[in-house]
Parts: sequence; C-alpha cells; structure tokens
Amino acid sequence: MAVSNQDEEDLLLDSLTYQRDDLADRITNLEDLRKNIPLDNSRVSTVSDTRISASLGKLDTLPLELVHEVILALDLQSLTNLRAVSSTARALVNSNPAYRNVLTHAPDAIRAYITTSLASSFNIAQLLDTLCTQLCALCNDFGAFLFLPNCIRCCWACLTQHPDLLPISAGHARVIFGLTKAAAGKVPVMQTIPGLYKMRLKSCHMIRTEPLVSKLTARRIGSAIHGSREKMEAHVAKIRAKQDAAYEKKIAIYHEELAERFEKWERERPSFEEVRAAPMIKKPAAPPFSGDVDQKDDDVRRLLGVIPFPTLDRRTGRRQVGVSCKGCTNTLPIELIPNEFYPQGIGSGHAQYDGRKRELARMFTDEGYLKHYAECGRAQSLWEFKSKGPSSPL
Ligand SMILES: [Zn+2]
Ligand SMILES: [Zn+2]
Repeated sequence: MAVSNQDEEDLLLDSLTYQRDDLADRITNLEDLRKNIPLDNSRVSTVSDTRISASLGKLDTLPLELVHEVILALDLQSLTNLRAVSSTARALVNSNPAYRNVLTHAPDAIRAYITTSLASSFNIAQLLDTLCTQLCALCNDFGAFLFLPNCIRCCWACLTQHPDLLPISAGHARVIFGLTKAAAGKVPVMQTIPGLYKMRLKSCHMIRTEPLVSKLTARRIGSAIHGSREKMEAHVAKIRAKQDAAYEKKIAIYHEELAERFEKWERERPSFEEVRAAPMIKKPAAPPFSGDVDQKDDDVRRLLGVIPFPTLDRRTGRRQVGVSCKGCTNTLPIELIPNEFYPQGIGSGHAQYDGRKRELARMFTDEGYLKHYAECGRAQSLWEFKSKGPSSPL
C-alpha cells in the first residue's frame, strides 16, 4: 500500500527526530515547580475563607468585555491574586481566552513567574504573544525556551552563548550600564529557583535564591536615562577609562613595593621569622568593570532564568515542544570533540567549535525539521539506512 505524503512525513519525523529531555533536565526542575505552585489555589490562596464570596466587587459592575480587557492588562501576580479571591473570580480569569491558552499549554511559565518574583513585570497578553512565536529573539532558529527576565523566546545555543542572556547582579548592572541607584531600582529582580542545575561539564546545587537582573532590561533603562545607547556607552567608557587608569597606577606601585622588598631581602638576608612577620603588601582589587566574567556554558546563572517553552499555533491550537535531528546529533558528543577545535576553551568564539555546538543543541518545529531534512545529508543517509533495513549494504 502506498503511503500518503502525510504518513511519510510522520514516519520520517518519528524515525529521525527526538525530544530534548537532556536539555530540559539541565534547568529548573518542573516537578518541584508544579508541586510548589499548583495553580489550583489550594496552597497559594492568601485570602481567608471568610472573605471568599461570589461577588467580585467593582469588577461585577463592568461589562464582561471590559472585565476581560482588565484581565489582559493586569500583571501575572495581580491575576494570580485575583484567582485566589474566590471560585467565581478563578472561573472568570480561567474563562479569559489568553489566560486559558497559557494555562492549558504552558502553565509552568505562570508558575515560574510567580516563583521568581517576576510575575509583577509581565501580563498574560505578553506571555501569550511569546507563546505563539516560534523563533529565538536573538537568532533565526526555533527557540524552545523562555527567558523569564524579558519574556522572550530563546534557543539553547543563545541561552548558553549570547552575552545578553547572562543574568547578572543588580550591582554589576549599575556599573556596566551607568545606572543611578533610582534607575537600578526600576530593573525587575529575578529571585532564582533553588535546585540542581547541570552545566556543560559540571553540576551546581543552588541552595539559596540568587537575585539577578537582565542585561537587556538594564541596558534599555541605562540608554533611556543617558539619552541613547551610544551616550550611555560613552559615559560608561569614560568611567571605565578612569578606573582602569587608577588601577594601573595602583598596580604599578604594588609591583614597585614588591620589587623593593625583594631587593631589601636580597641585601639583608632576614631570618624566616622576620620574613613571616613582615606586613603583607596587598594587591589592589581589580576595578568593578572586570569583576564579572561570563563563563558561557559553564556559568550556572545562564540556566537559572529559563524554562522549556512550547510554541502554540493560535489558529489551529496545535502545541509543539520542538525536536532535534538524530542525523546532526547522533555523532560525536561535544565533550569528545578534539582539543584543536577549541584551543582557547569554552566561549572562545572559535567558529568551528561554536558551529558544532549550535548544531548539537538545535531544535525545530515539525515543519522546520522537514525543511532541515531536505538540507541535512546525515539525516538523509540515516533515513536511507533505516528504510533499507539492517541488511542494507550501507
Ligand atoms: Zn538563538
Ligand atoms: Zn540534521
């Protein structure tokens, strides 16, 4: 019996793609998130039973269309609080098409926003918009993850490599984006979720919550208060040059003092006790700008503000989590790529190494995969081998 095109496509997708549980396992533990934030209000309700009533107060007096407008505009935290008021309020919020879509297809995103204290910074309309996109906001690949601090979609390669997707401390953001204390207060702070995070080669058990902010937001606010990004960068560069010059002076004095001391010791040959008792010459601290190094794949902060995020087709209601190509990934694991491919180590920007790394983590929608298949020689060979069976001379 001849197979239809659709059947062949389904078979091809079944045989040549797989879901990336390995990547999802490296970030926030969704089981814990679901246990802690059930979204059924049995645990999150902060309202006592005596206050629960069928009335919605002022909301009751508005026409239903306006109530739904209000729901769309309310931030996720206010919406969660409203759902906790009564079963009527909860039913009303749940009946909002945007909320219902997110609750049905990506409830973990709402949970993650509540847990990270970022729920006051975004509303359900923004979250639904991002849910209905497919591409990483930083490149043109499919993005299977949600970068919480900006409510944008991203791919694994950008998540672990792109300089803007490294969440940093509010203090460092102030330094590198020239923020005043008041301006820094406008940058939403993400309280990271404790748990086990797996980097490229090692794991990190985050015991405490870590307050971090988005570089993208801090830069936007910095650019706004300085007039433009160029002006902000010029201002920061000026401060940085001053700090660097001061540091160079201090470090030169430090080396001079060290040299003098060794010369003196050469001349005077002090006893071991005298050497031990001599006050230490303290090395000057590096200037604030150099206080934070981005370790790319090995920087746990990159894994703290992200969850797997499906994509939803508004028109058909179809949800997809994304798949990877067995042809592209069933080859050499990245840890075993010979050293000559990345002589400077991780994040070296070495094109061949970074390209292979992107390929290994690349994900597609089903439609995207079928286009990729047409260009992927390795997937085509695999398909040919699979179709012919193990007795194939291949
Ligand atoms: Zn990307
Ligand atoms: Zn491929």
